[in-house]
Amino acid sequence: MATSPWSEPVTQALRADGIELAALHPSATPGFSGGKTEGTRLLAERSRVLSNLQEKLFANGRSGDARSVLLVLQGMDTAGKGGIVRHVIGSVDPQGVDHAAFGVPTAEEQRHHYLWRIRKRLPRGGQIGVFDRSHYEDVLVVRVHNLVPPEVWSARYDEINEFERELVDAGTTLVKVAMFVSLDEQKRRLAERLNRRDKYWKFNPADIDERAFWPAYRDAYQAMLDRTSTDYAPWYVLPADRKWFSRLAVTELLIDALSGLDLDWPPARFDVEEQKRRLAAS
Ligand code: ADP
Repeated sequence: MATSPWSEPVTQALRADGIELAALHPSATPGFSGGKTEGTRLLAERSRVLSNLQEKLFANGRSGDARSVLLVLQGMDTAGKGGIVRHVIGSVDPQGVDHAAFGVPTAEEQRHHYLWRIRKRLPRGGQIGVFDRSHYEDVLVVRVHNLVPPEVWSARYDEINEFERELVDAGTTLVKVAMFVSLDEQKRRLAERLNRRDKYWKFNPADIDERAFWPAYRDAYQAMLDRTSTDYAPWYVLPADRKWFSRLAVTELLIDALSGLDLDWPPARFDVEEQKRRLAAS
């Protein structure tokens, strides 16, 4: 019998508890002993499992089940959030996915509490919501660039924990993934954007400036992990230098979350035999 390339469940291998970001190796593949070839093969297989589970979630949502899954993706530029959306989320039925990207708040958003725009995009029952950046920007970029005073951002950790408690109590399973790419790999990915005409659109000159802020971002990410990884909404820390591993790991995290819902196909709301007879006679 083939042995699994996973030495432990991904939820344990990537769990943020007690992690020191200063000691993280972004090219590591925690818990996974296989290489790219095996990882890529496994990804194709596991994507089908994910897709099947997602269809069950969607079917139950159609039948009134209020439960949902919310994938929260955080990471510096080039960490691969877009790749997760395209390759992992792209493998499931788009009608069951609600994708929301959060950039610099608009003038209208700025007039509201920072959770206002977040609440508007929460997934409905049966959906997988995907947050490409999230309310965590309000303790990351906002903290690093002093966009509000420290007493304001520092109160947000507890507030976010309470907010997420509410979401979980209302039936949403949160899968929070913080992606970390090394400065070298980030440089390589940014260079690629400058060297390829089809990647210019992804390049933002400000991304180069942000590189100098990495130590401040690391502190902000560390505080985020320390203060907002809870038993009901834990953070997972994803070393993101290897794209195939990122995609495989997030696929497994979503499979774990959906499996935890113990989903079955909703029962027929009609008499199956009677409908078969009617169909045959039609
Ligand atoms: P991306 O760079 O992910 O492709 P965008 O260019 O649309 O996407 O916007 C992302 C930018 O918006 C990032 O620089 C991020 O830090 C910033 N941003 C997101 N949320 C906030 C916020 N609440 N306050 C200030 N800046 C934010």
